[in-house]
Amino acid sequence: MSEHFFWWTNEQKAIYKDVREFVEENYEEAEEYFWNTKFPWPLVKKVAEKGYFGVGVPKEFGGLELGATGSCIVAAQLGRLYAVGHVFTVSMLAGLEQILRFGTDEQKQAWLPKIASGEELGALCITEPFAGSDAANVFTSAIKEGDDWVLNGKKRFITGAGVSDRYFIYAKTSDDKALRKQYGHITAFMVEKGRPGFSLEKINPLIGFDNVPNGYIDFDHVRIPDSNRIGAVGNGWNVMMAGLNFERLIGAAVFSGQFEDVINLLFHFTKRRVQFNRTTNQFPGVQDGIAEIITKAKVSRLYSYHCAKLLDDGKEPMVEASIAKMINTEYARDIGLKAIQILGGDGLTKFLPAERLLREAKIGEIVAGTNEVQKMIIYRFSAMLPFYNTSMRLRWNDDVNAPIISKKESKFKGFSITDENVLKVIAHDYKVNPGLYMTPDDVREDIGGSRSDLRKIFEELETQGLIVTHRDRAGKIVLVKATYTGLQNAFPKVYYQWFPDWYNNADKF
Ligand SMILES: Cc1cc2nc3c(=O)[nH]c(=O)nc-3n(C[C@H](O)[C@H](O)[C@H](O)COP(=O)(O)OP(=O)(O)OC[C@H]3O[C@@H](n4cnc5c(N)ncnc54)[C@H](O)[C@@H]3O)c2cc1C
Repeated sequence: MSEHFFWWTNEQKAIYKDVREFVEENYEEAEEYFWNTKFPWPLVKKVAEKGYFGVGVPKEFGGLELGATGSCIVAAQLGRLYAVGHVFTVSMLAGLEQILRFGTDEQKQAWLPKIASGEELGALCITEPFAGSDAANVFTSAIKEGDDWVLNGKKRFITGAGVSDRYFIYAKTSDDKALRKQYGHITAFMVEKGRPGFSLEKINPLIGFDNVPNGYIDFDHVRIPDSNRIGAVGNGWNVMMAGLNFERLIGAAVFSGQFEDVINLLFHFTKRRVQFNRTTNQFPGVQDGIAEIITKAKVSRLYSYHCAKLLDDGKEPMVEASIAKMINTEYARDIGLKAIQILGGDGLTKFLPAERLLREAKIGEIVAGTNEVQKMIIYRFSAMLPFYNTSMRLRWNDDVNAPIISKKESKFKGFSITDENVLKVIAHDYKVNPGLYMTPDDVREDIGGSRSDLRKIFEELETQGLIVTHRDRAGKIVLVKATYTGLQNAFPKVYYQWFPDWYNNADKF
């Protein structure tokens, strides 16, 4: 396998080698914490000493400045150290991208060196008991009192709860309905452990995250200074969104090192397990399964680094980050399941890391926005992209007597804009696309005219029962089609008929 991608810088290649060696040296120790269900503080300190927490932090604030690509490289390797990978990612996600983009110079000076040093861990706090996928529906409130803010509310499912010192939270700063509609009711804050009224409520027993604390936190009249506000009042949604692309990418990348370990394990194991007098790697089904795992591991790794490059190039890869998150976690689930199947009963034991991957994958499919939410983002943002919205109009081609996707002008172009001609355009579209409506712009493209003139004609034709309109919630006409009466009025029946050459004339009626 080519371990580096050609666009990585020499520094990124160097950290890959460095962190890989670190992981190899510390793998056994991480396993001991896993087996003892202990938070791996000494290992976290070692990660901090190596400077890995600063991989995405600019050099001027004590970091390594290796961007999203460097962060992915480190996350993917530290993910092999189980709890360490989770803590590393969440600590960076709890402020790095948000402060870099929205923090003041003072805030950058105050927080970024702390993130880089890893002396204090961070937690990202979006989710609440009543606000999960609908992350804008926060109930935790922040009310301004003098120069301070007073926080009340709860956050839940917070990774690193308790062990973290910094909590990056989003709170409601307005109940104004108009602001709420524009997502202008949320503000971002940093809250430090130790503030009076700030407490840990619960630690969740989970399907995975065996030695990673995840829980509820409570704010009871917690007072913080205005200098802990990140970004403008009411700009929290944008701060959250800015952080989320990075979060989804890094959270997903954490699986890719584990995929490598599982592939190594499968080759090792199946060359040594004998059934029916053959090593199991000789069974075609086992080979297929391993090939499928390798394919998924490679595809997800490539896609993650593609997305990281976009981030490093200053793009907003909303769709790509969602895809990276979705495929990494779905592939992690598939790889976990397939690996267990190949390993047989041994795969179901905790002695081998396959069952662990499956459990973590299920968490991955839910955290940082469920995969259903990712699909919603992928669909909605792609639907707006010009790239996917080039015209695909079918037009009737008289030479071949069939509809063909064409960029040619409509035969109605230049006709006068009358009720009769507009009806002809719409009826002709039935001949070409019998099951589809036309948009008003399709009609306009075919015959010309102004939008308002066409709207009036549509309304008139509708009143006469010659066309049907489909309207949006505001009552605006968004689609039109001819009624059967409209079709009869526009052209004789023969206009719509079409038979293949082989069809017997005697059978026509
Ligand atoms: C182990 C773990 C760690 C976590 N770490 C953190 C953390 O550090 N910080 C943090 O803030 N949060 C964290 N979370 C919370 C996580 O981000 C949420 O659990 C997640 O966003 C889903 O919210 P929910 O659990 O309330 O599910 P819900 O939002 O109640 O969703 C329930 C179901 O409804 C579906 N659904 C909801 N809305 C839609 C829709 N519009 N369209 C289609 N389907 C929909 C969902 O896909 C899901 O299947 C963590 C969660 C877990 C389990």
